[in-house]
Amino acid sequence: MTHGTLWIVGIGPGAHDLITPRALKVLEEADLIVGYQTYITLVRKLIKGKDKIRTGMTEEIGRARAAVDAAREGKKVAVISSGDSGVYGMGCLIFEVLREIGWKEGESPRVEMVPGITALNSCASLVGAPLGHDSCMISLSDLLTPWEVIERRIEAAASADFVIGFYNPASGRRQRQIMRAREILLQHRPASTPVALVKSAYRFREQIVHTDLEHMLEFEIGMLTTVLVGSTQTYRYEGRMVTPRGYKNKYELSDGAIKEGQRAGFSLDTSRLQEVQRPWRM
Ligand code: SAH
Repeated sequence: MTHGTLWIVGIGPGAHDLITPRALKVLEEADLIVGYQTYITLVRKLIKGKDKIRTGMTEEIGRARAAVDAAREGKKVAVISSGDSGVYGMGCLIFEVLREIGWKEGESPRVEMVPGITALNSCASLVGAPLGHDSCMISLSDLLTPWEVIERRIEAAASADFVIGFYNPASGRRQRQIMRAREILLQHRPASTPVALVKSAYRFREQIVHTDLEHMLEFEIGMLTTVLVGSTQTYRYEGRMVTPRGYKNKYELSDGAIKEGQRAGFSLDTSRLQEVQRPWRM
C-alpha cells in the first residue's frame, strides 16, 4: 500500500501574502483539501480543481475522520485551519482520531504539521507591539471546556500580569464570558489598561478598536474578534499598543548606555530601580 500524507496546515489570518511558502507548497501538492467552508473560500484561488471536503462549524469530528481515512488509503490530504492549525484548530483533533484508530509513526499516513501565523500574532501586529513581554492565550469558549476551568485561568493570568489574547471571546448567544473576564481583570489591573478589539484581521471587513478595560464592552465583540488586553505595563502611544520588554530598567534609551550599578548579560539589579514592577502588590 502506498503511504498517504496528511498535512495539517495553518493558512494564517486570511491575506494571501501571510500564508507561509511551505503551506502554499503543500496546498499545491495535495489531492484533497479538507476544511471549513470559510477557510476553503479564503484560499480558493490556490486550490482550484482539487477535491474538497467542506463542512460547517459543528462537523469537525466527521471531517477529521474523513481526512485521516483518505490519507490512510494513500491520498495526499491537506487539512486546513485558519491561523495556526495547532492553536484551537484541527491539529489536536486529528491526533485524537489517529490515536483512536491506533495509528503508529511509520505507518500510512505520514503526518506533518505546517505552522501558520496565529490570530494572536496577526492581531498584535495590527495594533503595535502588545506582546513585547509575557503573554498568554485564553479561549472563552465553554462549548468543550467547563467554564470553571476557564475562569481559573483568567484569574491566574490576570493576577500574574500577563498580556492576554482572548480567542472565541463571544458569539451572538454567548456574551456573559467576556463580561466576567473583564470583571476578573479589573480586580488586578486599572480600568485604564489598554485593550484592543481586532476583528477579521487581514481579511475583508477588518476592524480595529482601541479602548480600555473600562469601556471595552461598549463595542461589538463577536466570533471573529480577538481581544488583546494589556498588562499593567502596557501603554498606548500614537494610536498603538506597546508592552515594554524592560530595556529602560537597564539602559538609557537616549544613547544606549548602561545604567549605574547594572551589568549587561547579568540579572537585573532590582535594588537599583526606582520603580519596581510588582503589579500584584497594586
Ligand atoms: N487556529 C486559529 C484560531 C481558531 S479559534 C488561529 O491560530 O488563529 C477562532 C478564534 O480565533 C476567533 O474566535 C477569533 O478570536 C480568532 N481569530 C481567528 N482568525 C482571526 C482573524 N483573522 N482576526 C481576528 N481574530 C481571529
